[in-house]
Amino acid sequence: AQNSNSVSRKNSMGVNFSNDNELKALAEAVNAKSGPWTAGPLVAGAQGDGPTVQVTNPSDRRQVVGSYVSADAALVDKALANAVAAQQDWDRLPAASRAAILEHAAELLEARRGEFIALCVREAGKSLPDSIAEIREAADFLRYYAAMARRLFGHPEQLPGPTGESNQLFLNGRGAFVCISPWNFPLAIFLGQISAALAAGNSVIAKPAEQTSLIGHAAVKLLHEAGVPANVLQYLPGDGAVVGAALTKDPRVAGVAFTGSTETAWAINRALAARNAPIAALIAETGGQNAMIADSSALPEQIVKDVIASAFQSAGQRCSAARVLFVQEDIADKVIGMLAGAMAELKVGDPGQLSTDVGPVIDDDALKILDDHAARMDKEAKKIAEAKLDSAATSNGTFFAPRAYEIPSLDILKREVFGPVLHVIRWKGSDLPKVIDAINATGYGLTLGVHSRIDDTVEYIRSHARVGNCYVNRNQIGAVVGVQPFGGESLSGTGPKAGGPHYLLRFAGERTLTINT
Ligand code: NAP
Repeated sequence: AQNSNSVSRKNSMGVNFSNDNELKALAEAVNAKSGPWTAGPLVAGAQGDGPTVQVTNPSDRRQVVGSYVSADAALVDKALANAVAAQQDWDRLPAASRAAILEHAAELLEARRGEFIALCVREAGKSLPDSIAEIREAADFLRYYAAMARRLFGHPEQLPGPTGESNQLFLNGRGAFVCISPWNFPLAIFLGQISAALAAGNSVIAKPAEQTSLIGHAAVKLLHEAGVPANVLQYLPGDGAVVGAALTKDPRVAGVAFTGSTETAWAINRALAARNAPIAALIAETGGQNAMIADSSALPEQIVKDVIASAFQSAGQRCSAARVLFVQEDIADKVIGMLAGAMAELKVGDPGQLSTDVGPVIDDDALKILDDHAARMDKEAKKIAEAKLDSAATSNGTFFAPRAYEIPSLDILKREVFGPVLHVIRWKGSDLPKVIDAINATGYGLTLGVHSRIDDTVEYIRSHARVGNCYVNRNQIGAVVGVQPFGGESLSGTGPKAGGPHYLLRFAGERTLTINT
């Protein structure tokens, strides 16, 4: 059954890993193109001549994946002029026409998934299952926002009024939108932001994370091929502190969709506020300090299975990943022992192999932050386990062995640790309110995992924890478009939730028309 906020649509299909023919076809598609890929700004009527950046594979830094040309300040100016000039015509298209283009893009993406999977594995270091999930999620966003645009923007809402008067509410695009995305979902979040902004009638300038500029370039080319005009969607790769900052301080920008760290969201918020310009819409989806709470009514095997997936899948580089496991004292020794056993089995290595559990982290900077954190934890906490690194498979890449530490309280964690490190805290039977207070006191509010068979406990947590996405008796990652609309509150983001029924409205303006008939 569908509620009034649902739209009729199917989520994208995956791959059946137990079917040899499907696996063979997948391997052939992924190996058909192995680079090198080249990319650069896509700005209508202009060429970029910024510096060229070489892209290497996080699994093996000796392998060159491709290169891209960065945007410079002159291109930012030209792109904004184009975006402002093109927006009104795009906005005046029927919503169904914009939607049809996005749906066509979803089909093209699925038809070419081999190349996109290859790019996700080689440029972003994503595992094969994560790369497939990335393409599925991106296709889901394209179709979901297309369907939402048809429903919300397809016709004006008729409003009541006195006899002899007609009142209508129209939705319209806001203007030139800037979409700034992170490297950890280089296709799904990148295309999710863009497709929402386009569906609502905005022109878009897309700034990818530097680390995944090749994926962003291929995605924008695909949307152009599907029918989005070149000046309605432009692409500006480059340094966030240069290109992103130049875009967000410009008075011509009507809105920004940002996903990334809380610190960068603050910088963007300040830049937008400092402009002597119309007040821009800011949608910011940011970091978290995500916890999982397990009580003694839960099954230890299930806790361990779900915490392993939540903390270490995607090398812990998911905004939703579990960073802290609060485990009730009575079962703590058992769970910690089983956790150490499960971590000893984790296979860290080549993300292109299906047998790999944990691939590389994104780059040397990320590795250094994790190494520094581990060095501090080695002194200040009690190590529970460290997964094995097979040096033959990992020595040329940015690999970090997953670790788990027992810590006395959350106070020891100053900020989000974006990688495969789990922290475990024991709690006593009557301390649940204190656990929730401690989680709320971090100021973040993204995901929360709960393992409990006690309805009152689940209800207490649901009604007291200030988090955007709460998952009970399962893992806390992998939100599905239209099923678990995703996004946090407080330091974790502004909302509305991506992949949810209210997201497009934030990209829109509202106008009424009153006619005295
Ligand atoms: P980041 O460092 O904040 O970067 C995100 C984007 O902002 C990049 O494209 C970056 O460009 C750009 N940027 C940097 N400085 C800027 C500035 N002054 N003005 C405008 N743009 C600027 O984040 P990240 O390391 O890529 O991503 C990891 C973070 O994202 C984590 O905190 C994670 O929790 C969060 N995240 C949240 C969600 C969610 O839905 N809540 C989803 C995914 C990730 P450069 O490439 O040049 O740095």
